[in-house]
Amino acid sequence: MTTITRFAPSPTGRLHVGNIRTALHNWMLARKAGGRFMLRIDDTDAERSREEYVEAIRADLAWLGLEPDGEERQSLRLAKYEAAFEALKAAGRVYPAYETAQELELKRKIQLGRGLPPIYDRGALKLTQDERAAKEAEGVAPHWRFKLDHDEPITWDDGVRGAQKFDAAQLSDPVIRRADGSWLYMLPSAVDDLDMGVTDVLRGEDHVSNTAVQIQMFTALIAAQYAAAKMPRFAHEALLVGREGKLSKRLGSLGCDAFREKGIEPQALVALLARLGTSQPVEPIAERSALVDSFDLSTFGRAPAKFDDAELERINAALVHQMDFTSVEHRLPEGMDEAGWHAIRPNLSHVHEAADWWRLVTGPIEQPEFAEDDRAYLAEAARRLAWGDDPWHALTNALKEATGRKGKPLFLPLRQALTGMDHGPDMAELLPLIGEVEARARLVRAAA
Ligand code: GLU
Repeated sequence: MTTITRFAPSPTGRLHVGNIRTALHNWMLARKAGGRFMLRIDDTDAERSREEYVEAIRADLAWLGLEPDGEERQSLRLAKYEAAFEALKAAGRVYPAYETAQELELKRKIQLGRGLPPIYDRGALKLTQDERAAKEAEGVAPHWRFKLDHDEPITWDDGVRGAQKFDAAQLSDPVIRRADGSWLYMLPSAVDDLDMGVTDVLRGEDHVSNTAVQIQMFTALIAAQYAAAKMPRFAHEALLVGREGKLSKRLGSLGCDAFREKGIEPQALVALLARLGTSQPVEPIAERSALVDSFDLSTFGRAPAKFDDAELERINAALVHQMDFTSVEHRLPEGMDEAGWHAIRPNLSHVHEAADWWRLVTGPIEQPEFAEDDRAYLAEAARRLAWGDDPWHALTNALKEATGRKGKPLFLPLRQALTGMDHGPDMAELLPLIGEVEARARLVRAAA
């Protein structure tokens, strides 16, 4: 059976690093199995969903290189939910409830006050036919709850958490439909997973108790012959937290735009998030196929995964140092060629810094003031500069012999005169890029 995974964001905001990680893992799971990765837009909440976010989600996935193999939208599937709802109603698995939000809140408070868990008391199920009719006559429209089956424990073998067991009696019958007819998340998601043939539901551990409920929905829908499909496998990954170990607000708003602005390469984010929270080492791996091949849910830990910007920066720099000229060419300053890229690349944390370093080649550069003996030394350097295969080593060897200088006094004044800086790219690579005429002019100017 083809593996089918899905990423199901609600378009009520931009993707943040936590959603990106979930999307990535679903993509990897599908790719590793040679299956399909689907995007499902969870836009049943018409009030909060925005088209601009749908577009931003698609654009972010494209930037990350996680293009889906297909897309579905919940707002286009409302008839399906209606049909599933009718099937469940016929099977006696949904029931109308008339409590107001205030009444429910009061019940909760009383339960908590008595030290009891705030589980819905199924008051609506106890209403007589007449009481229900009276509510309707008063014009109270019901909301609808899914009736959990209390007889069997809910169990599944979670891909990350192992054997899971829930007592349905310890859960509230979930509200699946509001009084205005609109849908809450729970049922549409289960219906879609069945209709789309999703084989693996991989999501954050904040959904564990939803899974318990949805497992009963899948079973009920299959039993009601709404669908012939099989129940998917489930896996819940530990949540992503900030370095300080807490769920942070900052992470919840940290998205692709912010990373792009900082100069983070999508492959750096992918390499980090692919393995963060697993027992596999986070490494600057540029090859997607290597990350996909090593993807393994059994290496995922139960402890929260810690997201550290400094680690992302390290991975980014290491990946920039490996990037080919052809993959960055269009982002480099005018005139910077392959040799230039190779000379400068080891100094970069981000590709956009190439422009600053390239100015060392194109000039103008600002030289420091040199002491008299260094000026004489630089004048000597200008005289001895000769052009060949390797002008830097030719020059420094000649100067070493002529002046007896070595180490820092030999190299530093030259670097300062030629680039205006104390450190930077390998001079042997840089000098040929500066060129003979310009290099001599800089040495002469420094010596003056
Ligand atoms: N729209 C839901 C969310 O963003 C989807 C959860 C799921 O993967 O089923 O939390």
